[in-house]
Amino acid sequence: MKSICVFCGSKTGNTIHLQDAAIQFAQTLVQHNLTLIYGGAQAGLMGLIADQVLKEGGRVIGVMPKSLTAVEYVHHKLTELHIVDSMSERKMKMAELSDGFVTLPGGIGTLDELFEVWTWRHLGLHEKPIGLLNVEGFYDPLIAHIERMAAEGFLSNHTKEKLLVETEPEALTQRLLATFIKHN
Ligand code: AMP
Repeated sequence: MKSICVFCGSKTGNTIHLQDAAIQFAQTLVQHNLTLIYGGAQAGLMGLIADQVLKEGGRVIGVMPKSLTAVEYVHHKLTELHIVDSMSERKMKMAELSDGFVTLPGGIGTLDELFEVWTWRHLGLHEKPIGLLNVEGFYDPLIAHIERMAAEGFLSNHTKEKLLVETEPEALTQRLLATFIKHN
């Protein structure tokens, strides 16, 4: 069974469409028999996606640093929970447990996580696919900036193309699944 690590907000945001995207992405994961790996929180879109995967009968593995257990509230109904010592260890553990990564709407923590796994891939530290769900144009400004970095010669097209961008959960999941088939 393959696992997808989802990075998303520890807040729910102000827009119902973005919350719906987390719910839809959860449904897509379960339909494709994919385990959710995430930050282990009850809060925000993180909690929403975990709840939905569990509700649909799927598997959820959380990875939470000790220091955040009081802030983001550990989700107590997960299939598996890992408590780690630091934020860095959290990212390492989530990456180790996953076969691919998907970023949904979120804040600076979400971006930190996305850019870390993308730079690790750029440096050849892993070969796992990295997806960005650009729902409701949420990531349009970020995508424009990524294009600008490429146009200005700070980002190679090779690395740029490693970020798989789609607007629909199913289309994004299909692109990740296609890379699994290629590597098997
Ligand atoms: P945010 O997008 O800011 O709501 O944060 C989403 C998740 O990323 C939360 O669980 C944060 O605790 C987590 N996070 C923030 N910074 C880091 C970091 N440096 N390493 C690992 N996780 C982080």
